[in-house]
Amino acid sequence: MLSIAIIGSGPAGFYTAEALLKTGAQVDIIDRLPTPFGLIRAGVAPDHQSIKAVVKRYDATARAAGAAFVGNVEVGRDVTIAELETLYDAVVLATGAPADRALGVPGETLPGVIGSAAFVGWYNGHPDFADLQVPLTGAVAVIGNGNVAVDVARILAKTPDELATSDIAGHAAAALARASVRDIHIIGRRGPHQASFTPKEMGELGHLGQAQPRARHDHFPHTDADAALDPGLRKTVGHLRSFAAADHAGKPLTIHFEFFNRPVLIEPAAAGLRLTLERTRLDGTRAVGTGETWTLDCSLIVPCIGYRTLGLEGVPFDAGAGRFENDAGRIAPGLYAAGWAARGPTGTIGTNRADGIAVADRIAGEVVPAGKAGRDGLMALLGERGVRVVDYAGWQAIDAHEVARAAAPAPRDKIVRVDEMLALLA
Ligand code: NAP
Repeated sequence: MLSIAIIGSGPAGFYTAEALLKTGAQVDIIDRLPTPFGLIRAGVAPDHQSIKAVVKRYDATARAAGAAFVGNVEVGRDVTIAELETLYDAVVLATGAPADRALGVPGETLPGVIGSAAFVGWYNGHPDFADLQVPLTGAVAVIGNGNVAVDVARILAKTPDELATSDIAGHAAAALARASVRDIHIIGRRGPHQASFTPKEMGELGHLGQAQPRARHDHFPHTDADAALDPGLRKTVGHLRSFAAADHAGKPLTIHFEFFNRPVLIEPAAAGLRLTLERTRLDGTRAVGTGETWTLDCSLIVPCIGYRTLGLEGVPFDAGAGRFENDAGRIAPGLYAAGWAARGPTGTIGTNRADGIAVADRIAGEVVPAGKAGRDGLMALLGERGVRVVDYAGWQAIDAHEVARAAAPAPRDKIVRVDEMLALLA
C-alpha cells in the first residue's frame, strides 16, 4: 500500500486525497492550521454559503478509511519536506497561493494598503489576520477586475442584515457595522471587455440594499463589440451596461467602476492615503499609460491582483509564475504538486478536482510502495518534537463549537485564534 502525505487541506488537497484513496493508498492530509478546507473556509466569500457546501464532500473524504487529517503541523517548521520524503512513498504539495502578488507601485507597503489575501483572510477569520487594523471611512479603492475584487467590494458594501446569514468573522462584522464607507472604486487597468468578472458575481452587485454600482457608457461605447465576446463575459458586460443606465439616486453607497486606469503611486494623505492613477488605453490587448493622471483620496486600498504560492526549502520554485516548478504535477521523483501550487491562481474550485485526479493517477502509475514508516513514523517524529497535532475529531469539536455558538441565522461563529482552538480541545 502506498503511503502519501498531502500538504494543504484546501480543495486541491482534498480532491487529490479522494482520488488517491480510491487507489487503496493511505493518505495523510497535513495542514498548518487546526482547521481544514483552506480556501473554502478562508477564501470563499462568507456570504457565498452555497459554494462552501462543497466541504460535505471533503468531510466524507476525511472520514474515509485510509485517510487522516494532521492539523496544526507546519511543514518547514515542525517537519521538513526532506523528512516527509523519507517517511512517505510520495508527497503532494497542495499549499495553494496564499500570498499577494506585489503591485509594483511606490507606497504599496503603507498602512492602509491591504492586499486581498490579508483582507479576505481578515473578514473570513483566518488566524493570521485576526489583528489586522482596517480603516473603513470615506472612499475605498479596490484594484483589479477579477472576482476577488467583486467579493471585496460586495462585502464592504453589504449591510449588517445582508451579512447576517454569512459566516463572516465577528471582528469584521463589527468593524463593517461601524464603517462609514461611501464610495468603493473598482479599478481596472483594462476595459469591461477584458475584465475577469463572472456574470453571477457581477449581477449580485445590482441587488444590494445600500449600494448602487455605477459604470460609464464611454468606457464601452460600442455595443456591437459585445457580440464577439464569449457568452459569460457578454453577460457580465450586460450587467455593467445596466449599471451605466441605472438611476444612481437614493442609495448612500456607490460602487464606481473605474476602467482604463492603473495605479502609479500611493502616498500618505489626510484621508489616510492618496492613490495616483494614470489613465490607460489599449494597445492590442495591453494597457498602456496615456500620461494623464488624477488622484483618489481613500482610507483603504485593497489590491486584488492575484496570488502567489510560497516557496518551500529545497523545492524548485518558479518565482515569475508564483508556483512550484513542475511537469504536469510532478516536481521530482516522489514529489508532486496540485492545484494553485502547481498551475497558479486561476480557475474555479472544481478545476482542482481534475488536477487532483490527474496527479493521483500519475502517482498510482509511477510510485512503488517501499514499506516506508508513513503515518506512524510522522506521529512518532511530531511526538518527539512536542508538536500538538489536531486530528479530524479535533476539527469536528471546533466545528461543533463554532456552529453552537453562532447567533441565528449565521451558520457559524468562527474561532479566529489558534490558541483558543487548542484551549477548546485541551
Ligand atoms: P483574476 O481573475 O486573475 O483577476 C486579477 C485582476 O488583477 C485582473 O483584472 C488583472 O488585470 C488585475 N491585475 C493584475 N496585475 C495588476 C496590476 N499590476 N495592476 C492592476 N491590475 C492588475 O484573479 P482573482 O480575482 O484574484 O481571482 C483568482 C481566481 O479565483 C479566479 O479564477 C477567480 O475567478 C476565482 N474566484 C472565483 C470566485 C467565484 O466564483 N465567486 C470568487 C473569487 C475568486 P489584467 O486582466 O489586465 O491582467
